[in-house]
Amino acid sequence: MIQANTERVLRDLYMLREIGRYKTGVHRPTLSDDDMKTRYWLRDELAGMGYETLIDGVANVIGYSPAPGKKLLCGSHLETQNRAGWLDGALGVIYALEAARALQEAGRTDIGVDVMAFADEEGHFGNLLGSNSMVGNISEADMDALHDLTTGEPLRDALARVGLAGVPRASLDPSRYVGMFEAHIEQGDSLEADGLKIGVVTSIVGNWLFHIHAKGVQNHAGTTRMAIRKDAGAALMRVYQRLDERFRTEAAERTVWTVGNITLDPGAPSIVPGGAEMYFQFRDADLAVLKRLHGVLEEVEAAENAGGPCEVWITPGARSLPALMDSGLQAAIEASAEKFAPGLHVRMPSGAGHDARTISLKMPASMLFIPSIGGISHHWTEDTSDEDIALGAQVYVDAAARMLEG
Ligand SMILES: [Zn+2]
Repeated sequence: MIQANTERVLRDLYMLREIGRYKTGVHRPTLSDDDMKTRYWLRDELAGMGYETLIDGVANVIGYSPAPGKKLLCGSHLETQNRAGWLDGALGVIYALEAARALQEAGRTDIGVDVMAFADEEGHFGNLLGSNSMVGNISEADMDALHDLTTGEPLRDALARVGLAGVPRASLDPSRYVGMFEAHIEQGDSLEADGLKIGVVTSIVGNWLFHIHAKGVQNHAGTTRMAIRKDAGAALMRVYQRLDERFRTEAAERTVWTVGNITLDPGAPSIVPGGAEMYFQFRDADLAVLKRLHGVLEEVEAAENAGGPCEVWITPGARSLPALMDSGLQAAIEASAEKFAPGLHVRMPSGAGHDARTISLKMPASMLFIPSIGGISHHWTEDTSDEDIALGAQVYVDAAARMLEG
């Protein structure tokens, strides 16, 4: 049996929490000084274990195991959202490091894990930049165009500022691996609500975005009779109301849908708005459900246009497909969970995107969740109990060994 040193796991997580600390959380945006501090720390830890290490041209930290044979790719991300939580990302990196350490300490030099901290999973510059770069989804022209969404700093300038200008970008070699394994806090409250300790992730949801527009006629809010006004804002609200009603019957159990950025043109209370728009996003792990809900959008669009008096049209934005996690790797996690947390584990989809989604395009991938207190994440109050972190570490290390032993 491979024993995790859970005190060491907690010590390193608490240490990382101090780098960019914000209240009880962390502010460590990608390529900030604090972010780079954590990347160099991880690189040095791995180098000290005899790993071949590098920080590539988008700041991915990579440690290649010296063990023979196929490896398991273990990791997550080190940067955080602005003024956010201490475990989102860091947990998966420290579990990966612990798997590497525990295997070595158990004398298992015959099997090994590569450890990676993918750059900018949190999307300060782009969407899952580090893992997308590794699988070849980011061109040099993309690199030229990306900039920090908070500060506006171009990615090229930021890389130059931290000494990574001109450094080659690493690419993923799937033939090196049996698969990828990422641990993460759940970021929702399902595990906690059911009194469970480990989530075995079955899939990562697809996320479909739409832009909804309404066009009416701008006019005086006091003199334009209700019978003849064409209020684009009211039309947009009506569309949302219809969508929400239809989704409540047509969606699957875990489907979620969200409105973003409603704008009225103009937005003054004394003017009937002539234009209105909003974003509408929905997520589900089943492609058939996503397609069905897209159909609902089209029906609602048609119904609103038939009823008038405004014109409504819906344009598709970014959409990602659901990513299935590997069934063999899921079975390994489940077996380890049953060993250390009998009866306290469940198979579940991930409602959030992760680097494992990107990597799953190229090779088998898997994820393990531990509970988030109150389901809170992307906020500085994000937390998980020490006991749950420790239990998760032991399950992770055991499952990693299981995956490597096939
Ligand atoms: Zn994360």
